[in-house]
Amino acid sequence: MYKTIVIGTGPAGLTAAIYLARANLSPLVIEGPEPGGQLTTTTEVENFPGFPQGIMGPELMDNMRKQAERFGAEFKTGWVNDIDLSKRPFKMTVEGIGELEAETVIISTGASAKLLGIDNEKENIGRGVSTCATCDGFFFRNKKIVVVGGGDSAMEEANFLTRFATDVNLVHRRDELRASKIMQDRARGNEKISWSLNRTPLGVEAGERGVTGLRVKNNATGQEEVLETDGIFIAIGHTPNTGFLKGQIDTDEHGYIKVKPDSSETNIPGVFACGDVMDSKYRQAITAAGSGCKAALDCEKFLEGQMVHDWSQTLGE
Ligand code: NAP
Repeated sequence: MYKTIVIGTGPAGLTAAIYLARANLSPLVIEGPEPGGQLTTTTEVENFPGFPQGIMGPELMDNMRKQAERFGAEFKTGWVNDIDLSKRPFKMTVEGIGELEAETVIISTGASAKLLGIDNEKENIGRGVSTCATCDGFFFRNKKIVVVGGGDSAMEEANFLTRFATDVNLVHRRDELRASKIMQDRARGNEKISWSLNRTPLGVEAGERGVTGLRVKNNATGQEEVLETDGIFIAIGHTPNTGFLKGQIDTDEHGYIKVKPDSSETNIPGVFACGDVMDSKYRQAITAAGSGCKAALDCEKFLEGQMVHDWSQTLGE
């Protein structure tokens, strides 16, 4: 049995692993299908303190992983199919690993990219529809690209994709962008980006060789239009990865795990949450890392409390 199992290897999970390993708690860290989390699908990270020239996302995550391993964290790759949080020790079945038991669990499974839910979208993922500019941008050299979304992610992806595309058309459902001013200014200053604001995506147009266009409704005229494009990058936010918990833990209406104020404790004693799976507000690598640190410290304190409890039981106090 493990003292603690960390599920997820984004900045939150890896920071928790570093702290737990340094506290001699020998954590097991379960790596899912996207090791390193969302930062491995991003390019340069400019706002993580300590890197004045910026650092590539995958490199940052790789460094954090090595740092956790250096202090004795164990890593295993698998998918948590089933978890029982009704009593301690907590039990889980992990595809690729088997049955595991732990006194405490830290959930840091992050969040996944949302899809639009429009016609022909899912069918064309990998045939011109993508949610990851860093992963797929290279395939669109000298092609036309549409980016959907009005937040920072959409601005960042649009800017990045101008490295490859001849033209990046940014499609947003409202007239106003949600993105921060600095990100908007950067995108607006990029000559390769054109703007299709106030357009609601309706469907993906595709032929035998993949995507040919995005069908949208022009909200000003009510007319349908087809924006010709070779690729559609969807950048409309994320959904927390809490499905595997099957309702065993308190979440908000969007599925984000609820934690106690200024803590990483969930409603289940011994289960902690950190990173994007519990944070719908800040969602930054540095805030995720900070929350991972808090989860490790809370977990350590919890285990210490258990030891005192066990001793006092033994001594009949
Ligand atoms: P976001 O801020 O939630 O923006 C999502 C965008 O997608 C919004 O403009 C929204 O439109 C649009 N949208 C949502 N559902 C849609 C649908 N079904 N159809 C069409 N459009 C839809 O998400 P985000 O851009 O991923 O950013 C998330 C967080 O990460 C933010 O806090 C952001 O600041 C941060 N972030 C920071 C950086 C950076 O600083 N380098 C980079 C990326 C992200 P409405 O505006 O109409 O709601």
